[in-house]
Amino acid sequence: ALDADWAVRWVRCAAADVRTHRDELTELDRLIGDGDHGVNLDRGFTAVVARLDGPDGTRLATVGQVLQLVATTLMSTVGGAAGPLYGTAFLHASRVTDRPVLDAAGVLALVEAAGEGIASRGHAVPGNKTMVDAWHAAVEAAGPVVTAGDALAVLRAAADGAAAGALATIPMTATKGRASYLGERSAGTQDPGACSTALVLAAAVEAAQ
Ligand code: ADP
Ligand code: MG
Ligand code: MG
Repeated sequence: ALDADWAVRWVRCAAADVRTHRDELTELDRLIGDGDHGVNLDRGFTAVVARLDGPDGTRLATVGQVLQLVATTLMSTVGGAAGPLYGTAFLHASRVTDRPVLDAAGVLALVEAAGEGIASRGHAVPGNKTMVDAWHAAVEAAGPVVTAGDALAVLRAAADGAAAGALATIPMTATKGRASYLGERSAGTQDPGACSTALVLAAAVEAAQ
């Protein structure tokens, strides 16, 4: 079931995967940004896991409570662009998931709220070559699956959509964030934040299996 324990496993998986891919994410950001995205996220998720291992981690009864802990921790530890963006994503997602178990519509609501949070915070739209491209593709892919009523299938569709959305940023020219300073030279490299979004959503699926 996609319950609070799943959400905790999700966050732990995401932390482990960010650690594994830290240098890859940082290398993407070195090519079109300032070379710190993997390091930023690794710092944040390491702090999240530390909180889950402490007293705060024992009182989590709903998915939303887990996501709220993630949000506040990422906001206070990540910095840069990604900290407030991921923080807002998890905060908005926490507001629509304050229940013990998510159904198919609940999973879509989570992904939609996260994507909408990032878009509103960063004023980015699909096509700007940011993490919004991955979140938007996740929502587009997950939406049609909801009617079948299988929450895990919705989650899988979201993760697959995010992965495709991240790859689709490769040929784009960045028009938001640091990469936009490079203009057309930003084309040819995957956006680091879109790449980490795909990783984080893949971890949600991994944690559900
Ligand atoms: P910084 O750019 O401050 O060093 P990071 O390297 O951690 O922060 O994160 C960079 C990522 O943040 C980019 O790859 C992009 O996906 C995302 N990003 C940057 N600006 C925006 C924005 N305005 N809206 C949405 N996402 C953004
Ligand atoms: Mg950076
Ligand atoms: Mg930076």
